[in-house]
Amino acid sequence: MTREQVFEFFRRLAEANPSPTTELESNNPYQLLVAVVLSAQATDASVNVATKPLFEHIETPEQMVDFGEEPLRQAIKTIGLFNTKAKNVIALSRALIDDHRSEIPRTREELEELPGVGRKTANVVLNTAFGEETFAVDTHVFRVCNRTGLAPGKTVDEVEAKLEKIVPQPFRRDAHHWLILHGRYTCKARLPECWRCPVIDLCRYKPKTLPPEERVKSSAVRTATRGSSKARTAKARTDGPPTAGRSRSRPNRLP
Ligand code: SF4
Repeated sequence: MTREQVFEFFRRLAEANPSPTTELESNNPYQLLVAVVLSAQATDASVNVATKPLFEHIETPEQMVDFGEEPLRQAIKTIGLFNTKAKNVIALSRALIDDHRSEIPRTREELEELPGVGRKTANVVLNTAFGEETFAVDTHVFRVCNRTGLAPGKTVDEVEAKLEKIVPQPFRRDAHHWLILHGRYTCKARLPECWRCPVIDLCRYKPKTLPPEERVKSSAVRTATRGSSKARTAKARTDGPPTAGRSRSRPNRLP
């Protein structure tokens, strides 16, 4: 995409949703960090279901450590990989206490030192809790960037580096949210909803999806065409005179 197209791409996503944010629910940066750690390979909705009652009485690392690993495991057992995640949440809470931190770290390096915190998690926390212009690349962002030609790359690191380079102001801070939400609700993995996509003319994905009613029509036409061509073939076989080589199973009896 050209620079003008990239600008237009984000301008339209911004117009459709001027104040995007994460769908993970939290009341402070520590809870956000925990929610992001829990959201690896899980949906935000499933994490919210588990954290809602938990976050009513746990707001700090100290409260989490007092709560304990086994009760935490029980509280989050509806989320995938809950055993490892419970361990990591307790371990990262202990690390925060041991470092005498009243707040969670504000640099990527310090965040990534915490158990269970990788680059993507650090990027989400830096962006959502502290307003940094970071680009967390999850499965939705990776797909949208490659499909559309916005920031193609073979790995999440490549895509992140391209986003860093091409996303213009004033969209840098919220770009990551717009891309996630676009991937989650419009440019879906199995069937992108191109017919209602605000960036359809900028996107390089070729087999654009038709609106549902046109898909029904065209599949009916395909079925009808297949049916009539089968009928024509069957009729030609019954009506036509036997000719040499027409059928291998029946000998040609013409004089
Ligand atoms: S046109 Fe289709 S493939 Fe392209 S971004 Fe929109 S939904 Fe995705």
